[in-house]
Amino acid sequence: MNAVENALSSLPPEVVVRDQDIVSKYTTDFRHLYAGRAVAVLRPRSVAEVQQVVRTLTAHGVPIVPQGGNTSYCTAATPDRGGGEVVVSLERLNKVREIDVGNLSMIVDAGCILSDLHDAASDCDLMLPLSLGSQQSCQIGGNLSTNAGGIAVVKHGMARDLVLGLEVVLPDGSLLIDLNPLRKNNSGYDTKQLFIGAEGTLGIITGASLKLARKPRATVTAFLAISDISELSTLLDRAQRFTGDAVTSFEYVSNSSLELLLRKRPALRHPLEQASEHYVLLEAATSSHLLDIQGAVEALLEEAMTDGLVIDGAIAANEEHRSHFWHLRENIPEAEVLNGGSVKHDVSVRTSRLASFIEQASQIVRSHRPSAILSIYGHVGDGNVHFNVVPPAEAVPSEFKSSFETIVSPLIYSLAADMGGSFSAEYGIGRVKLDLLEKYGDPGKIAVMKKLKHALDPEGHMNPGKVVRQLSAAPPDNLIY
Ligand SMILES: Cc1cc2nc3c(=O)[nH]c(=O)nc-3n(C[C@H](O)[C@H](O)[C@H](O)COP(=O)(O)OP(=O)(O)OC[C@H]3O[C@@H](n4cnc5c(N)ncnc54)[C@H](O)[C@@H]3O)c2cc1C
Repeated sequence: MNAVENALSSLPPEVVVRDQDIVSKYTTDFRHLYAGRAVAVLRPRSVAEVQQVVRTLTAHGVPIVPQGGNTSYCTAATPDRGGGEVVVSLERLNKVREIDVGNLSMIVDAGCILSDLHDAASDCDLMLPLSLGSQQSCQIGGNLSTNAGGIAVVKHGMARDLVLGLEVVLPDGSLLIDLNPLRKNNSGYDTKQLFIGAEGTLGIITGASLKLARKPRATVTAFLAISDISELSTLLDRAQRFTGDAVTSFEYVSNSSLELLLRKRPALRHPLEQASEHYVLLEAATSSHLLDIQGAVEALLEEAMTDGLVIDGAIAANEEHRSHFWHLRENIPEAEVLNGGSVKHDVSVRTSRLASFIEQASQIVRSHRPSAILSIYGHVGDGNVHFNVVPPAEAVPSEFKSSFETIVSPLIYSLAADMGGSFSAEYGIGRVKLDLLEKYGDPGKIAVMKKLKHALDPEGHMNPGKVVRQLSAAPPDNLIY
């Protein structure tokens, strides 16, 4: 028997799934960009079983790929093609352990689906303010392992900002329990931060203690047309001033992205009477029943239209309007798929430079691939733009994408770097951005990452080949990655 079979034979059979029709769903990423291979998927039912699984696999030298909802955009949750790695899915650890209404906190299993946590918090008149397009299938353990962003970062921060504590099974099978939901706890190194955004390379998160917020009493959602993209940061600043910093989302949608969607889904109606080059989906909310947030957004719109900052706008009159606005924004990735897919650049720069980045990057694309379709949208309230490029109708999508990625994408990433930005705002590194990290990452930071990886996972068993290159057995300073 080989190492994998030896390991599997010493685990409870109820935990092991070998049916390849099922296993293949875990070994292929949701965009079908990467198909790995594994003999089995393990689905532990408790934290103790996660420990048993990790100890057993590690003892047999079998690499582990932790997996949540498998919605990663950088194939971070799929095994390689060798067949020697095993996927460990957290999906059966899906209980809400505690909600403390007075403390505005919840303690949950890592395998809980994000939207289920929204429902659980909502039942207590609270909210978990982390919201992404994949929330019906991603898991909170995956969200924390990728330090997910989403549409509420401008108000509530990234996933990291919502974490009070974590429970983690380390690569040697031991358990780190730090779930106390305290706002203040300066008792040594803040070790939980190591595992947030580590993409499963340092351990398996099994539980999390999270901050909750009060549910809004009033939410105002507006779809605004702007003529000049350089006014984005002025509009955001003004929206924050008018609403008293109550802006929860400030999303940009380019007209070309909206057109991609409306062309494929003609039943969807345009939100405004008049088309424009640029749109902003703005949402502001308050938990106070005294503050007039509706009046604040109306006043903002009136003033912004008077001085030409906004050329057209609509405020959602009811929940149906509001969900229509959000439907348009959230279905742009799907529209790209329907139009042949896209080359994605998940870039961030400081908000004050964002418009300039979009203009210069668009110019790069126009001069190298004049017929390419730009699909630009994103969470611009926090400086994050999805600068995506869709193949023109006449192109063979796969050929277009690979040539674009080789020739033009590096110019876009260099522009972002020159402007002090990042090549990966929220999707992470996975296996697809290792080269970019090595090119643009600070050498000192990368050296510390390698030392941490070596210290916690000296054999390199935990999600190998993601975030840091495969470890050799040499001591950290001499490692070849
Ligand atoms: C339609 C759509 C919209 C999206 N929008 C956004 C967005 O707005 N913002 C954003 O940030 N991302 C977005 N994403 C990307 C993705 O949904 C997020 O990265 C999400 O946080 C991944 O969660 P997951 O449970 O699917 O993790 P997976 O894809 O399963 O795993 C992601 C990484 O985390 C690791 N991992 C998973 N669970 C654990 C665990 N319990 N312990 C340790 N490691 C673990 C995996 O090994 C892998 O490295 C979107 C994806 C889709 C499909």
